[in-house]
Amino acid sequence: MTDAGNAFAFDNSYARELDGFYAPWKAAPVAHPEMLLFNHALAQELGLDGQLLDGPDGAAVFSGQLMPEGAQPLAQAYAGHQFGGFSPQLGDGRALLIGELVDQQGHRRDLQLKGSGPTPFSRGGDGKAPLGPVLREYLMGEAMHALGIPTTRALAAVATNESVRRDGMLPGAVLTRVASSHVRVGTFQFFAARGETDKVQQLADYVIARHYSELADSGPAHGAGDDRYLQLLVSIGQRQAELVARWMAVGFIHGVMNTDNMAVSGETIDYGPCAFMDGYDPRTVFSSIDHQGRYAYANQPVIAQWNLARLAETLLPLIDTDEKRAVELATEQLNRFVDHYQGCWLAVMRNKLGLSVQTDSGSESQNVDDGKLVSDWFQLLESEAVDFTAAFRALAQVAVGDRSVLNTLFQDRQGLDAWCDRWVERSAAELADVSPDGSSDGGLQMEAMNAVNPVYIPRNHLVEAALDVAVSGSDLESFNELLGVLSDPFTERDGLEAYAAPAPANAPPCVTFCGT
Ligand code: AMP
Ligand code: MG
Repeated sequence: MTDAGNAFAFDNSYARELDGFYAPWKAAPVAHPEMLLFNHALAQELGLDGQLLDGPDGAAVFSGQLMPEGAQPLAQAYAGHQFGGFSPQLGDGRALLIGELVDQQGHRRDLQLKGSGPTPFSRGGDGKAPLGPVLREYLMGEAMHALGIPTTRALAAVATNESVRRDGMLPGAVLTRVASSHVRVGTFQFFAARGETDKVQQLADYVIARHYSELADSGPAHGAGDDRYLQLLVSIGQRQAELVARWMAVGFIHGVMNTDNMAVSGETIDYGPCAFMDGYDPRTVFSSIDHQGRYAYANQPVIAQWNLARLAETLLPLIDTDEKRAVELATEQLNRFVDHYQGCWLAVMRNKLGLSVQTDSGSESQNVDDGKLVSDWFQLLESEAVDFTAAFRALAQVAVGDRSVLNTLFQDRQGLDAWCDRWVERSAAELADVSPDGSSDGGLQMEAMNAVNPVYIPRNHLVEAALDVAVSGSDLESFNELLGVLSDPFTERDGLEAYAAPAPANAPPCVTFCGT
């Protein structure tokens, strides 16, 4: 019979292959761990027995009290640029990788505890996590997953029933995070900063095997003509471009895009001070400490490229033994990131406007026109701080000739009408292109738009309210309700109007906090 102690078929490649990249470690003792949230759908994906684990036994495992057979708990070493300044040693200061599972689809996934106590990388921190941020990360990850955006996810949230000292005393919790890996740009930086090129190479080979196996055969290994490390930089850049474009498409602001918070797998990681934009403003920042707007909405693609440049620096000795040549090659690829990102951005924005078909077969002029159509739309939204999410849903109704909802979102109708006419014309051209009889079908366009433009996102005022009741009132009901709504963000349901509505005008401005 299985029990929680042998319910995991761990296969720990990081522990096995990367000796010297981590510190084996143990979780801090917790007397009364209690399961608060368990993600049954994710457990199933991972081949885990949800019935067995959603209870006291799971609470013991997912607070680090019971290490199941095959687990090799360890704290990973990494460095990172934080708000532009380099810290040579960060590392898992409050997290433990307990092991890796190969899921039902054959994908390797990390299981990591976050908030499980201090480690050799804690730098004076307590290694703990308060309940509020744990629930926040749980909710945000699940919401992003439901939106179809690559992300780490939460498997469990366990209350420690102990207090954590922050400004005051807060209830503590441990999050179990599932990621396709926890290798960050900062992991490369850790070894590069110490001049350990052999370790950088070992890590690059590991990342290629785990995430970019198509590169494993690009030329003779480690010999002349082997450009796999340059290609690794390109591939990581491509996934990052796609990821950030998809953030932009839903108004997501990560908030702390430090190089230690950029996973080389291309998943969104580390939901700290992140939030979704309400009224459209490209300068939006939520983080309490980001005074310069370094990680503002519109800056995210620029920062992604900046982070890639930091990654490129670590790979230079592997790209070419001639440093000047290596810099040239890397720079050329970094410059290409801009075009690649623009392509990804235009593709997702076209979809949002119901323009999935390229009428022009990719001709330059149509790309320019569509780019202009999109940026003019955003300018309209910006001029009146129109709700980002509601605007796209309302626009879909214009496809079937109903401008009434969209009109309610704007004061100045003139600019809006002119833009809508252009969009209707552009849509008709596209539809004429796909239906040979020249008929246009606005209904299909509306459906296509509603399939990519969410009606429900984690709105700041709703998230804050749900967390407040959960933490102060120890009541998870409204949190679970919100979680349920967000699990199906594209299907409008009766009775859920409050979840779709923009924040009330008197809602306090959202401020999110780092270092939680
Ligand atoms: P984050 O802001 O969560 O991305 O964390 C940045 C760095 O600070 C990482 O090295 C974390 O492990 C570390 N850190 C954050 N909070 C704590 C904490 N309470 N105790 C120890 N280390 C922490
Ligand atoms: Mg982090």
